[in-house]
Amino acid sequence: MLHKESKKQVSAGLILVVDDDEFVRQVATLHLEYAGYRVVQAADGAEAIRLFDESEEVPSMVLLDMVMPVLSGCETCKGLRQRVKGLRLPILILTGSDDEESVELAFRAGATDFVSKPVNWAILVQRVRYALRNRELYLELEQKEQQLSHAQHLAKLGYGRMNLTTGIIDFSPEIAEMLGLDGESTIKSEVFFNLLSPRDQEKMRQALDEAVAGAGQYIFQHRLKLSGEPEKVILQQGEAQQVDGEWLISGTLQDITERVHAEEMIYFHTYYDPLSDLPNRALFEKQLGEQLGGDELQAVLFVGLDRFKAVNDSLGHASGDLLLKEIAKRLSPLQKEAMVVARFAGDVFSIYLPKAGSVEEVDELAQTLLTLARIPSQIGEHTLEMSASVGIALYPLEVASAERLLLGADTALNLAKKHGGGQYRYFSSELDGLAQERLLMEQALREAVKLEQFELYYQPQIDARSQEIVGVEALIRWNHPERGVVAPFKFIPLAEETGMIIPMGEWVLNRACQQARCWLDKGIKVRMGVNLSVKQLQLENFEAVVASALEVSGLPPEQLDLEVTESMAISDLKNTISVLKKVRELGVLTSMDDFGTGYSSLSYLQQLPLCTLKIDRAFIKDIDDEGNHAEIAKTIIDLSRNLGLHVIAEGIETRSQFEQLLMHGCDEIQGFYFSKPIKAAEFESLYEKIEGRFLLRDFES
Ligand code: C2E
Ligand code: MG
Ligand code: MG
Repeated sequence: MLHKESKKQVSAGLILVVDDDEFVRQVATLHLEYAGYRVVQAADGAEAIRLFDESEEVPSMVLLDMVMPVLSGCETCKGLRQRVKGLRLPILILTGSDDEESVELAFRAGATDFVSKPVNWAILVQRVRYALRNRELYLELEQKEQQLSHAQHLAKLGYGRMNLTTGIIDFSPEIAEMLGLDGESTIKSEVFFNLLSPRDQEKMRQALDEAVAGAGQYIFQHRLKLSGEPEKVILQQGEAQQVDGEWLISGTLQDITERVHAEEMIYFHTYYDPLSDLPNRALFEKQLGEQLGGDELQAVLFVGLDRFKAVNDSLGHASGDLLLKEIAKRLSPLQKEAMVVARFAGDVFSIYLPKAGSVEEVDELAQTLLTLARIPSQIGEHTLEMSASVGIALYPLEVASAERLLLGADTALNLAKKHGGGQYRYFSSELDGLAQERLLMEQALREAVKLEQFELYYQPQIDARSQEIVGVEALIRWNHPERGVVAPFKFIPLAEETGMIIPMGEWVLNRACQQARCWLDKGIKVRMGVNLSVKQLQLENFEAVVASALEVSGLPPEQLDLEVTESMAISDLKNTISVLKKVRELGVLTSMDDFGTGYSSLSYLQQLPLCTLKIDRAFIKDIDDEGNHAEIAKTIIDLSRNLGLHVIAEGIETRSQFEQLLMHGCDEIQGFYFSKPIKAAEFESLYEKIEGRFLLRDFES
């Protein structure tokens, strides 16, 4: 019924006078109208309620006689109250002066005030005026409260109070909603704390302590996690007050989740590239500006895709975008290694290395970038084989400011593109010269693999007691068209860096097996030693490569001896163990090369499935001097014996070195004293000439 009123118009100056005494109604009307009000009359309660319900206009106040037929004043009052509550409709009761009981009843029925009969009309008019002013104020207040609550609702702001002594928090409906406690208005403080992460709990406790200790106010942001709901971000502000010896914290909680998300979105749009999800140029420049400085080497690399425009032109921009996304995906993991990776512009990605380490490390990164770009990309039904150019500028080596770094990298990138792409260039001419030399070398190496400019040389391994040739070690040489024979130390590291060691190593293995088989057929039974690279050990199917080389050549597995160095073995001991095990299962022999130069720890030797240990040349060199080295060589030989390992000494150049090692019980000898590494044909004639056995008297001592 009350709601009916809301649809009707309340008339501010309209007063309903309800009295069965017509005289009273008329006099009241006269006075009220004289005072400027409009009046409607009802002769009893039932008529009053009917008027109330049916009239389009709703009175702003009612004068109600207490004693009436049909419906008493009390019942009428109740009926009207059901329609409009409290101060929105002041109801003034007219009652006999001595009737205290009915006054009490009238108030309980919802009356606002009363006036005794006989009525002093002048005072009644004042009472009416006063009641109507109160009504106005009440309505104003009610409206403000509604506005405030609406504003709080919109701002997702609620207030509450925590009693630190009782540990009880009471709060407004907005907070109840925020905490998922609709309809409740108090909780224990632990319940609230439990909705916070341990870190936020700690932060809040500290804020409360500080507020109580004297800071007074506090403000901090925290997260709120309700089960089954996304996390909220809350701004909490509070103030500590001591009331009657108890500490009260009153304050507000504001749910700022949407604002924080909006800020995050704005941050993303300002600082990230939506296509690649990588930082954009603005963030890149910001971080560069923040971190550049000091004397340590730092670098900026620009990576540009070669002929990217052609992809856009021929396959359309959507395909171009997919390609950029694919490249971004490959570069993105670099971000983990303390590098800033960004999409700088169009098809140019930028990388900032705040800790570049050394020029060699930058070289290595540039190589990696070129390799990453070369991996074919599947774009729709097209397989794109792309390449990239890289421009590099170094701080403080080449330039001294952030702007110069960017300009330098860009200049170098253009240079790389101008020279055909697929390469990296430095900004300064000096460094660029070195990089170019590497580039030339790399290109030449690529050619060499294709043109098979490699050749294997063989160095004999001799049984120390009988001086028979029992094995050879295959050692690679590069027959460079201009430089002549190039030794392995000049190109193996680069081949490893560029991954070219893989096809090269496979070629060596196959070639060596074929050679050994060929000699076997001619009655020259020598074990074939082949050096491995760490990159080969990392191959997933390395043992299959070995098995295939054996099968294709027809070499018995026990005639093949694979050499790994100490540092290789250690770099990933678990993997080395597993690969060597598989190789041993094929029946192939395994050796530890250059023993003593690396970690010289015997503990891991026991874990590795090895047959032979090769003592490095470094220990042989000074063995005659009766110094440490003689001792060490002897110890290594003894220990190897205990581990059941065969021992070969490398780099024997003199007769005395040979004799010392023979005396210490070394099994085999390899070195210039007997023979340098020689070509296959030379080895064949040597073997035939000496009939497989060196005669010591033929050598000078
Ligand atoms: P390594 O496996 O320890 O090979 C022995 C090296 O010592 C050879 O150098 C050999 O010429 C040299 N040498 C042998 N006896 C003497 C001597 O009495 N005096 C002196 N001063 N040197 C001696 P090389 O051929 O230059 O090979 C160097 C390294 O290159 C090899 O060391 C090996 O680690 C690596 N290497 C050679 N060929 C290959 C290959 O096909 N694949 C791989 N991954 N590495 C290879
Ligand atoms: Mg070797
Ligand atoms: Mg060696």
